[in-house]
Parts: sequence; C-alpha cells; structure tokens
Amino acid sequence: MIGFDNSWVRDLPGSFLRLAPDAAPAPVLVAWNDSLAADLGLDPGVKAHAAQWFSGAALPPGAEPVALAYAGHQFGGFSPQLGDGRAHLLGEFLDGQGRRWDIQLKGSGRTPFSRGGDGKAAIGPMLREYVISEAMAAMGIPTTRALAVVATGETVWREAGPLPGAVVARVAASHIRVGSFQFFSARGETDKLRALLDYTIARHYPHLAPGDALGLFDAVTRAQARLIAQWMGVGFVHGVMNTDNMALSGETIDYGPCAFMEAYAPGTVFSSIDRQGRYAYANQPLILGWNLARLAEALLPFLDPDEARAVALANERLGAIAGIYETEFQAVMAAKLGLAAPDAGLVGDLLGLMPGLDWTLFFRRLSETGSDGVRGMAEGLAGWLERWQAMGPDLGAMRAVNPAIIPRNHLVEAALEAATSGDMAPFHALVAEIRRPFEPAMGREAFALPAPEGFGDYVTFCGT
Ligand code: AMP
Ligand code: MG
Repeated sequence: MIGFDNSWVRDLPGSFLRLAPDAAPAPVLVAWNDSLAADLGLDPGVKAHAAQWFSGAALPPGAEPVALAYAGHQFGGFSPQLGDGRAHLLGEFLDGQGRRWDIQLKGSGRTPFSRGGDGKAAIGPMLREYVISEAMAAMGIPTTRALAVVATGETVWREAGPLPGAVVARVAASHIRVGSFQFFSARGETDKLRALLDYTIARHYPHLAPGDALGLFDAVTRAQARLIAQWMGVGFVHGVMNTDNMALSGETIDYGPCAFMEAYAPGTVFSSIDRQGRYAYANQPLILGWNLARLAEALLPFLDPDEARAVALANERLGAIAGIYETEFQAVMAAKLGLAAPDAGLVGDLLGLMPGLDWTLFFRRLSETGSDGVRGMAEGLAGWLERWQAMGPDLGAMRAVNPAIIPRNHLVEAALEAATSGDMAPFHALVAEIRRPFEPAMGREAFALPAPEGFGDYVTFCGT
C-alpha cells in the first residue's frame, strides 16, 4: 500500500542496525496530515492503518526498520557515535512524481544508539515538530514534515513528571546528515564514506558525477545557505544546529527547542541548554559555515588525491561561504521589502532601527499598509520609510512572502498543554491557521498577535 523501495539498506551496509520499533500498547492517532498525504499521493487506505503502522504497533508491508548510525558535533564537542537513539527508519517510497522519501518513526523505542535515553518521546514535543514543520512548509521553506502523530498509551517520565507518550511519523527527502559523513570519516572507513558520497549525489544532486565531492560540497553550501537565509527571513531559531541536525538535502530537520522570534533581537535564544547563545538567531549564518567546515573535513579524501591541494580547495570553499550566504540573505530581504534588486545598505539601516519590534508584524504591516501603518512603530523610521518608498516597492509581492500568521509561542504552548491533557482542539485550530500564513489576519487576529506581556521570556526544552 505504501510501495517501499529501501535503497539505504540495499546500498549502505555498515551505516545502520536492523531492529524493530517498540510495539505501542494502545495506539491512538491524534494528528494526521491530510495535506502531506495528498502532496505525496499516498494511498487513501493508509490512514486507516496509521495508528498501528506509525506507532510501531504493526509494521506496514515492505518496511525494513533500521536505526541509522551517525556522529556529530553537539555544541561544538564531537561525539564519534550518536545515531538514532529513539528513531526507526521504516524505509523509503516513491511518490506520484517519482520523488523518493524516507518515512521514519521518532519516539519508537530504545536502540543500541540510545546511550542513557529511554528511546521515547512525550506527546508535546512530537506535536511541536508537527506544527512548526507544517508552518515552515506552508511558508515554502524546505523541511521534513510530519505525516502522523500517534499517542502510544504509554507514560514517559520527564523532568516535568509523567507525560503521555507519542510517536511522530516523519517524512524527509532523506536523513543524510553532516554527521553521517563524520561517522565514517572518524572511523577511517573510506570505502563506506565513498559509498555514502555516491549515494548522496545520486539521491539529491543527480546532475553531479559519482565521486564529485567538490560538486556535492558546493551544492550543499548553496542549499543550506538558502535555507538559513529563509529561516532568518521569518525569524526562525532552530535552537540546536549540531552537525547531526544539518541535512545534506537542504531541508530543515530535527525540530527540538526551536521557536520563532517575536521582538527582533539578534541574540534571541529559546533553548534552556544553549547558555552561551551558540545557536542564537544572528549566529545561525556563522554556524552554517562552521558546520560546512566539518563536512569539508569529512570529504577531504575525495576533494583531491594530494592532501595539501585538498586542504587548499576546502579552505577556498570555506572562505566563500559568508558571501554566498549574504547573497541569499539579501535576496530574501529584497523580497520581504518588495524590491526588484537587493540593497544591503537599506536592509542594514532597517535592522538598526528594528530591535524590539515584532519581526513578523512589522513586515506584514508594511506589506499591507505601506509606510503609513508602521511609521509610529519605532523612532527614526520615517526617514528610512521615505528612502524605501522612493524605490517603488511592490506591496502585493510582499504579501506573498511576509507571513501574517506564524506559530506564536504562547499559542504553541497552549495547544501542546491542552493536548497533553487530552484536548486536541486547540492544536488542530492552530494548525488550520498556520497552513494559510500569507492570507490576511482579518477574522483570526488572535493568531497574528505576539504573546501578551504576562507570557514573559520564552524558554524551550529539548524534546528528550
Ligand atoms: P537531538 O539533539 O534531538 O537531535 O538528539 C541528539 C541525539 O540524542 C540523537 O542521537 C538522538 O537519537 C538522541 N536522543 C534524543 N532523545 C533521546 C531519548 N529520549 N532516548 C534515546 N536517545 C535520544
Ligand atoms: Mg538530531
């Protein structure tokens, strides 16, 4: 019914362990993504089996569950072996357009990669992944997506106490991470590294020749630079940009303590564990370069047979990343400002005036009312607005890229809290609104406004 074709287990021995997910004792489907199911052209019959298949209670025919091995730098420190500690890749399928997708369960039980963890997930973080990734998809930002969330009927224990357990079924272009390359590189397994290189090229960048590591590096740099620029454009803070959470496909992956910035502040951090602000909003472009440097290191043996030349090539590429990112960012900002050509000076001056202003509301208001609606929002804005106006901005085009609705932190929290107590209605209401980000907020203003004063500073916790 799903039509699995599991190329990973066929082509990449040594990069996974075969093992079945835990069987959920009392699975109940709490969220089903009709919109994704339709995009993928999934057989409508799949939904009737979703509670079983996407909780580990039963395996869909053709699935070959595995836990993937990978390494990663977490907050700058290297772990040679992380791997899927609470996830099972069920397999891959080809959609109606011939695109290949991974289906993975997360929260589906312990694996040999679990280290100290219980292999499980609470319903809140799994629904958070669903709603935030759905918002990203609706805004046209590359992302993995959640097909289903199934409550398992188990209790999981977290700092907050006992919580209902759940599994998310996630659909991804692949789960190939920077850390997947680092895994073989750290072990000196050059043959397997080469197999992974060729697999990645064939799956994501098929215009490249097998073995073209430099071509792959350039393609990933472009995809990731574009992605991070898009994050910056909507105020998205990923929160845990470890190298194991950066996908070579260019999709946003592993939604943990992520959130959207409300008042513009370059140092915005939400994650309780990111005390140094390593993954703060304005640091994300720097981490892009840092993570890509780790990828370049892993690819070194294939950049050039001569090591010194390989290092020189890598350094040259790494030196170019900041400029590549800047071009992407300026393109995003030009679109947000409705301008035909980028203007870095204009953008820089605006950012200097914006601290404290709600990022989303400011750009949306500008798109809807032009200068008049925002003039009073910050001191010194009038002069900037005059310059901007003189450039002939296209407000209609702006409304197609500046969202009126993002998943507001207080609404996400309220929806997850209600879901944890068994009431799914606020979650479904929120999802319905974030699916239409670019439509006017009229009639749904409650979803467009920032958190009320009393909400305070927002702190998020990893989904563990
Ligand atoms: P993350 O920061 O969520 O991407 O996870 C980092 C690593 O920790 C990955 O190897 C995960 O599989 C693992 N992990 C996270 N939560 C758990 C858990 N509850 N049980 C086992 N492993 C986990
Ligand atoms: Mg991860």
